[in-house]
Amino acid sequence: ARIPFIAGNWKMNLDHLQAIAFVQKLAWALADAKHDFADAEVAVFPPFTDLRSVQTLVTADSLPIGYGAQDVSAHDSGAYTGEISGAFLAQLDCAYAIIGHSERRTLHGETDADVNSKVLAAHRHGIVPVVCVGETADDLEAHGPSAVPVAQLRAALDGVDGSKGLVVAYEPVWAIGSGQAAIPEQAEQVCAALRALIGELLGDEAATATRILYGGSVTAANIASFLREPNVDGALVGGASLDIDEFSSIVRFKK
Ligand code: 13P
Repeated sequence: ARIPFIAGNWKMNLDHLQAIAFVQKLAWALADAKHDFADAEVAVFPPFTDLRSVQTLVTADSLPIGYGAQDVSAHDSGAYTGEISGAFLAQLDCAYAIIGHSERRTLHGETDADVNSKVLAAHRHGIVPVVCVGETADDLEAHGPSAVPVAQLRAALDGVDGSKGLVVAYEPVWAIGSGQAAIPEQAEQVCAALRALIGELLGDEAATATRILYGGSVTAANIASFLREPNVDGALVGGASLDIDEFSSIVRFKK
């Protein structure tokens, strides 16, 4: 069975000192609550400049909290000013990298082809990509909920080796930061379509193993309704991942 995965995307919040305090307190809160990490894996996605500090803390204290980057370069090294290589992230023991978040796609012009190159780059360095897909409100009206996310994932997985690990996050753009989460049944419908596509492209084993997360205005109050759905395996949490009480309540969701 897939272990539920609760991922906190900090976006451009918390500097490296705040990150150390936050991760330490989160670990304490989960230990106090006797959280069983077999019930839900937890990872945070801080800004790049925090990753070394988070690595040092997690390693020194053997904290059961994973971490990853919010992006990765398609290139491994060279004249790419401002980019961060997957090789550097692997050196910092990043297990994951978020790729193709809607904010990267819309604010930084990332295309489906860019997303695909970044997925391949993550895999070259043993990093599991958290591939984000999702439709805008206009897409939803014009094409229904599944068409755009399925097309985005198809492009993202071009030439990808299904044995190298994959997490997918379905994040409807209209639900991100809006306080208006998707209806769980609709998230299930899209996540089921995404899983079917993974089966078609990467095979049954990958389809069964891949965790598909829902993201977009997830809170402690609505997390359980998403996790009840058979094809929703966790959440990619934005705003609510910045509050220790709220985020640890999300981690400790009860179906
Ligand atoms: P919110 O949880 O703030 O809606 O953000 C979702 C998101 O974009 C996570 O990647």
